[in-house]
Amino acid sequence: MCCLATLGLWVLLGTGCHQTPETAPAGAASRPAEAVPEPIDRQIRVLLLEGTPACSVSSDDAFDLIDPTAGTHFGQGEGGKPLGVVFEDQRIRVPSLQLDLADQVVDLVPRGLEPIGIQVNGKVQYYRGWIRFARTGDNAGAVTNVVDIEDYLIAVVDAELPRRFHQETFRAQAIAARTYAWYHKQTTGKKRFWDVKATERSQVYRGINRSPHGSPAAEAVYDTRGLVCAWDAPEGERIFCAYYSSACGGTTASAAAINGREDAQIPPLTGNVQCDSCRNAPDRSWGPVSLGKTMITEALRGRYPRFKALGLIERIEVAEATPAGRAVRYRCIDGQNREVEIEAENLRLTLDPSGREIRSTCFVLASNGSECVFQEGRGLGHGVGLCQYGADALARQGMKASQILKLYYPSSRVRRAY
Ligand SMILES: [Zn+2]
Repeated sequence: MCCLATLGLWVLLGTGCHQTPETAPAGAASRPAEAVPEPIDRQIRVLLLEGTPACSVSSDDAFDLIDPTAGTHFGQGEGGKPLGVVFEDQRIRVPSLQLDLADQVVDLVPRGLEPIGIQVNGKVQYYRGWIRFARTGDNAGAVTNVVDIEDYLIAVVDAELPRRFHQETFRAQAIAARTYAWYHKQTTGKKRFWDVKATERSQVYRGINRSPHGSPAAEAVYDTRGLVCAWDAPEGERIFCAYYSSACGGTTASAAAINGREDAQIPPLTGNVQCDSCRNAPDRSWGPVSLGKTMITEALRGRYPRFKALGLIERIEVAEATPAGRAVRYRCIDGQNREVEIEAENLRLTLDPSGREIRSTCFVLASNGSECVFQEGRGLGHGVGLCQYGADALARQGMKASQILKLYYPSSRVRRAY
């Protein structure tokens, strides 16, 4: 949900340079010689840590430290014990290996099969692929896992769905998550050194701690390898930012509730899909939640400077809604009738970053003295795109993953990206 507002909407399924012999369409042999295909880049760069002064790494295998741009070999280690990587004085240092590098980026690449351990939020998590250290400030850096997108998806899908869910739900989720990741790799990822975050800001990714190989998630990712959702844009077939959430609460939201208006122009993301199937979701109903108007005003001012134009916010009204009545944007109004608008999901996550109180963007707002009351809450999450609980109910009724995806992303179809 980050950084999309400034980007174009459309992404090619693949470009000529991404075609491989095994996926090239019939007739590819007649292409001119200069169109000789190159291997598809299926690596995705997942941001694990940012703005950190140091990082602890462990690898049971021997490893190499290299410059990914020039291929320069900086050093090597035998593995078996934790390794400290420090960002300080505009350098990347590995004290135990007596390395002191002025370079911007260093890759730690294991020589064997064992995953790499990284300490994230006080806990060691294990990752396939390799680890990239990038200096981002004088005394700060970022840690990224560069990993095959299919390995990444196994961990993402495993974290997204309860294992009791139907296998077709897992397949639909795998295709949606692959579409989301592939979209970001080809849009925002081209403008920065990472493609997606490891948190709910993108897709939750905790590495392979749960060893999900053989799990429903692993099977679903394997079954759907290379498949994404696409739709027929006027310019040709395109993928899109395939948002999904836990339970929509009865009708899906427009992507405009997350990200302004751009994504909402895409038929698969306009929302307004009726979803009676998630009515048994455990968090389908919530509230009321009362928040002080002073707290609301300060939280919005702290996050969005445009709210400093307002005094104490006295009322919050729906500024725009889907045809089914689900709010897309809200209008915040102070005592002098000055107003500022905000997307529904941004309002929710600014007032309750954990999402545990205001659980969705589907609620009715009331004013009660010095407080605003969020009531009649339904659903869990932003409600855009695939509804996981709704999908599971439909899968149990016999719907296939491709049918489920077409329902929640109208005008879309499942296609092979690689
Ligand atoms: Zn639903």
